[in-house]
Amino acid sequence: MTKWAFFKGEIVPIGEATISITNNTLHYGTGCFGGLRAYWNADHEQLYAFRWHDHFERFLHSTRLLRMTLPYSAQDLVDRAVEVCQREDWRENVYVRPIGYKDEGIYKVALHDMNDEVAIFSQPTGSFMANDAGAKVCVSSWRRVEDTAIPARGKINGAYVNSALAKSDAMLSGFDDAIVLNQDGHVAEATVANFMMVRKGVLITPPITSNLLEGITRKSLMQLARDEMGLEIVERNIDRSELYMADEAFFCGTGVQMAAIGSIDHRQIGSGRKGPIATELGALQHRVLTGQEAKYADWLTPIHASEPVTA
Ligand code: PMP
Repeated sequence: MTKWAFFKGEIVPIGEATISITNNTLHYGTGCFGGLRAYWNADHEQLYAFRWHDHFERFLHSTRLLRMTLPYSAQDLVDRAVEVCQREDWRENVYVRPIGYKDEGIYKVALHDMNDEVAIFSQPTGSFMANDAGAKVCVSSWRRVEDTAIPARGKINGAYVNSALAKSDAMLSGFDDAIVLNQDGHVAEATVANFMMVRKGVLITPPITSNLLEGITRKSLMQLARDEMGLEIVERNIDRSELYMADEAFFCGTGVQMAAIGSIDHRQIGSGRKGPIATELGALQHRVLTGQEAKYADWLTPIHASEPVTA
């Protein structure tokens, strides 16, 4: 159970971190958020925060899109989030949620000259999911919100209605999730994750200009695949029909880590389960996230004490 939150500049009991029903962001979606994780390594007795500086840099980019003025650097926010987790004394995997919001009433549908606030809380997420079974996925009839409407590279509250529309339609039609195309008809991403596929040993993923979130997991997996597995990585547009030709396909993100795709629009992908490249990359990702790859120690912040990451 969550006990603490960073709220209005200090750490307070979670019950005191409340926002009024008159709040501007609640009414108009004028806020942004982040989704971070930390992984518990029982052998090291350590909780490792994964790339929190990068997450908070992206969070601050989202706040810029929303014309927020905040007195925090990315490092300030990392420090606050670490402090929240230390106060909770978590000894399990946790998810951390920062939000940026307009601490204002409903009189103004605008972004400028408002009181902006940041809040952060954390909660346990249970154990690392194997995500081996192939998800049943469809291509959504909803299109990804365009950069010219609401920038996809920001994690902007209001834009997640787009994700929710696609996700619910997919699930209520018997699928696990959806792939969402952009207005050009090319693959953008999933509802809350980025998309990757493998064809003839090459890892292919849409470019960030295809209206997708600049995923930190996506960037990390591309680096691991290139540097540790020697894979060729290609960032290019993917047509809907090319999805059906994939040897392997998977979603990646902080929430799902890596989730193998078993079928797309009722067409089986590979064996219908996690393929060999996704399996190797996923195992490597797991070692990195839990502090078992010394080479990637600088992606991790030890939350409980300054113990070194060991190979
Ligand atoms: N796309 C969307 C729409 C998301 O919400 C997320 C989750 N933050 C991602 C991609 C994956 O991004 P990351 O790897 O940084 O969590």
